[in-house]
Amino acid sequence: MMNRGIFDSRLRRPQAPVPLKQAFEAALHARGVALAECTLLGHPARCYDPAARHSAPRVLLAGDAVGCDPLLGEGITSALGLGILAAETAVDGLARDDLRFRDYERRIRTSAVGRWLRVRRLTAHVFYGRGGRNSTLGALWLRARARSGGAALDALSL
Ligand SMILES: Cc1cc2nc3c(=O)[nH]c(=O)nc-3n(C[C@H](O)[C@H](O)[C@H](O)COP(=O)(O)OP(=O)(O)OC[C@H]3O[C@@H](n4cnc5c(N)ncnc54)[C@H](O)[C@@H]3O)c2cc1C
Repeated sequence: MMNRGIFDSRLRRPQAPVPLKQAFEAALHARGVALAECTLLGHPARCYDPAARHSAPRVLLAGDAVGCDPLLGEGITSALGLGILAAETAVDGLARDDLRFRDYERRIRTSAVGRWLRVRRLTAHVFYGRGGRNSTLGALWLRARARSGGAALDALSL
């Protein structure tokens, strides 16, 4: 199975909505896929929240189920890191015959990917403000990004 997707990542509001379906149809067409053959599903991008719970007895979350990078909405890096953590936690739990996974939050918190996600979360708050409202710093960053043709994005990668 192949998942394909499209999203609108613009930050400024209010602004005209983008005809995402049309743009998606054109992108699929260019790849030899007809939209009519696809099942369309919409999902909110869930961001990582250190206060949220990411495991339960016999259940471990990883990847987008834990949350994507709150700064840029990317999730491949964290999905790979969290997948390794979840696998290690499952292996340890099976070895100890204890599938409550009570140390999973600590493992995430103290891991490189957990620290990286927390830094991105803090940075997102600084740049976007709470609740997604643009902060002054965010507006300055967007202007710098537009002037540099996107190079400011690269400089920000932590
Ligand atoms: C349009 C778009 C562009 C993106 N661009 C970037 C980018 O440039 N960089 C970046 O880092 N991230 C990007 N992301 C985000 C990134 O794709 C995800 O964060 C990442 O793939 C999450 O990995 P995952 O393993 O959690 O989930 P997924 O990659 O979604 O994998 C989940 C898998 O589970 C399968 N599945 C679902 N339900 C079931 C079921 N019941 N039984 C069996 N299998 C099931 C699905 O088919 C899927 O293959 C983008 C996302 C979108 C939508």
